[in-house]
Amino acid sequence: MISYEELVVALKKDKLPSKSVCITFDDGYLDNLEVAKPLLEKHGLPCLFFIATGYIGKVREFWWDELEQYFLCKHELPKNISIESGDSKIDFSLAPWDNLDKEKSIVLRSWNAAQDALNNPRLEAFLSCQKLLKTLDINERENCLNQLWEQCSEAPVCRQSYRAMHKEELIRFNASPLFTFGAHTVNHCALSRLPYKRMKQEIVASKNELGKIINENTVTFSYPFGFSENYGKDAVQVVDEAGFESAFSVNSCRVDRHSNIFEIPRFQVPDLSGDNFRKWLHSVYG
Ligand SMILES: [Zn+2]
Repeated sequence: MISYEELVVALKKDKLPSKSVCITFDDGYLDNLEVAKPLLEKHGLPCLFFIATGYIGKVREFWWDELEQYFLCKHELPKNISIESGDSKIDFSLAPWDNLDKEKSIVLRSWNAAQDALNNPRLEAFLSCQKLLKTLDINERENCLNQLWEQCSEAPVCRQSYRAMHKEELIRFNASPLFTFGAHTVNHCALSRLPYKRMKQEIVASKNELGKIINENTVTFSYPFGFSENYGKDAVQVVDEAGFESAFSVNSCRVDRHSNIFEIPRFQVPDLSGDNFRKWLHSVYG
């Protein structure tokens, strides 16, 4: 298990220890502090946390969680829902899943996006909205979310287990020498979808805001929805020019001597336990 600093030094010197692992978490959820931190400390494991600075202390959940709250958790929704963004309007018919009984609730809550095929209109609406919102900048994205809530005459709640860390929590977290913090844009937009100026602003502002909070230079960055197509070549160059020393993608391959230090690949860890996780880890190492 190696720390961020060890990874960067090893990459620069082309001396990566074989089968080494560097752990990272993205977004800045409170559970990083409450659940991951004690476990990592218990085992003495260094870790890197990437923070979307616009969500620090925010009373709204990350937008994808808010969509989940709306489509997968709300017991009563209108039969028909629509969203307008720019020139396009999408209509959804949620019947007969507009009202959820206990059984339907369980089906939705236990849905596994990676494994289960679509089988009802709430899931279809959820995935369509997710796809649309991922392409939007912050104002238009919030406008779409607000349209949804207006149609069900309720306001979103910020569930404790879904919220991002507050400023004070981050400062307390950063006091531990095991952990390094990096930037993850301000508003968690897909950078390749933004005009150049806005893309640059998201990168530079998150570096500055995080640096101010933790009172340190922000040296590393991770791209939201970190596959190449979601950030693009221009963003890689901007990250370099902004003064970061490294950046992380989620292009699923192992880090090696050819890895670009501004696109360090990562594997997203699936939700597995025990033996299955061990098997998964072996498959990653090949
Ligand atoms: Zn993220």
